Amino acid sequence: MAKKSKLKIIPLGGVQEIGKNLTVFEYGGEILVLDCGMAFPDDTMPGVDSVIPDMTYLINNKEKVKAVVITHGHEDHIGSIPYLLRSINVPVYGTRLTLGLVEQKLKEYGILSISHLNRIQAGDTVKISNNFTVEFIRVNHSISDAVGMAITTPAGTVVHTGDFKIDCTPILGSMIDLARFGELGKNGVLALMSDSTNAERPGYTMSERTVGEKFEEIFANTRQRIFIATFASNVDRVQQIINAAVRNKRKVAVSGRSMVNIIEVASILGYLKIPEGTLIPIEDVKKYHDHQLVIITTGSQGEPMSALTRMAYSDHRKIEITRGDLVIISASPIPGNEKTVSNVINELYKKGADVIHQSITEVHVSGHACREELKIILGLVKPQYFIPVHGEERHLKRHAEIGAEMGIDKKNIFRMEIGQVLEMDRSSAKISGTVPSGAVLVDGYGVGDVGNIVLKDRKNLAENGIIMVVMAIDSRNNRLVSGPEIISRGFIYMRDNEAIMEELRRVAQTSVQDSLISKQHDWSTIKSNVKSALSDFVYEGTHRRPVILPVILDA
Ligand SMILES: [Zn+2]
Ligand SMILES: [Zn+2]
Repeated sequence: MAKKSKLKIIPLGGVQEIGKNLTVFEYGGEILVLDCGMAFPDDTMPGVDSVIPDMTYLINNKEKVKAVVITHGHEDHIGSIPYLLRSINVPVYGTRLTLGLVEQKLKEYGILSISHLNRIQAGDTVKISNNFTVEFIRVNHSISDAVGMAITTPAGTVVHTGDFKIDCTPILGSMIDLARFGELGKNGVLALMSDSTNAERPGYTMSERTVGEKFEEIFANTRQRIFIATFASNVDRVQQIINAAVRNKRKVAVSGRSMVNIIEVASILGYLKIPEGTLIPIEDVKKYHDHQLVIITTGSQGEPMSALTRMAYSDHRKIEITRGDLVIISASPIPGNEKTVSNVINELYKKGADVIHQSITEVHVSGHACREELKIILGLVKPQYFIPVHGEERHLKRHAEIGAEMGIDKKNIFRMEIGQVLEMDRSSAKISGTVPSGAVLVDGYGVGDVGNIVLKDRKNLAENGIIMVVMAIDSRNNRLVSGPEIISRGFIYMRDNEAIMEELRRVAQTSVQDSLISKQHDWSTIKSNVKSALSDFVYEGTHRRPVILPVILDA
């Protein structure tokens, strides 16, 4: 008799990090993928546009992959879908707004085929394949139409919360379906995977609605021109800005590509209600008085290329922030972005603008559950095994502790690493191995062609600059015909340092002549001799290690 299979859970991203969420569920030769997101590069990755999960395991098991199910439309959950669909032709399931945002992304990448996209709504149950049935459960988050899931397999049911909070008064739609989480708990849940983002924060996350009340108060009490920076994807926040603007007879202009895109998709689909005549083109702001305007913009994280940053540094083509303007930053900095946000705030103050941000007044609430809410979910679902997800190690650790406090046996709590395989059924669960995993860097059209060596070069170029040595050699007679010339960027300013340049040239020339005299005619030998001669000389004189690049032309 065949042994009954175990369910495998394999995170390919989204644990020990916040970003690029992708979880693989595997049972009986079938694979279900939950979310397929990207992450933003950090400052150790110069020039990198985005970071996606290593999907080798999925590509190697192409024929097993039955579907991708998506919890909500944030980049860290949908950003890698185009890269997956390029390699694997597989249906994608999501709610209306989620699919609207996915569709736009696929269009951008030129791979839209509507046949991929299957619309579901909260409350639906879909039989995906022989072994997987997925029920979609309404949750609250900072974007509408977010769902958690109950994934039922012959080994048992796994509940995944997706990103969630408990908001009793959400802006659009209804409250998280706590009753359903409770029913599932009563029927017996094998494992719970739950959002750990705010596991360090005590209490409850405030309702999104409180931010709207704050906007009303601010708008009603000023005649300043108002700029508000927030996440484009926070559609409910944008709705509240629009509501406050309309009530206070202000027109709304929008700046920033992602903001314009998402507002368009969300209003076509009915997730944003904008009364006619409210939106004006950004070019038209000059036609209105300050107290008639609100400008919604990207750049709440101080991103260098974003609209707010450009406006702050007078680098925006259409609009500039000036003395007397009011800027509201309605977001909190993602860890790591504190400094860039702070720089933008300083710049705005220098311009004479007023700035309201989270540490001054409550113009932002989180989209993620705090500790008491996490306890409610754990208490309702009562899982046999608990896997905290969507968090850095510190968040996963804290969430694991909450699980233990709530009475889950410590040996049944798994703080997983990317690429680990957790095998489970009702009798046992254990980490049984690993699969290929990691981060793939995307730079322009290049996917995965920027690796550690390229990053090291970029860092070295940025930190130490480059010295190029250009010369022409007659390869038949092995004679130096012209050069070497020294060209340098980012090392020292050449014009003010002609003496040093001349010395570098002399060192290079001696090295080449020596190589030729000693019959080392092979160009790669000549190059490496020049490199080491110059490198030693430069280090002795300056204690710097610029990149040295010899170039030989055949004369
Ligand atoms: Zn999210
Ligand atoms: Zn997320």
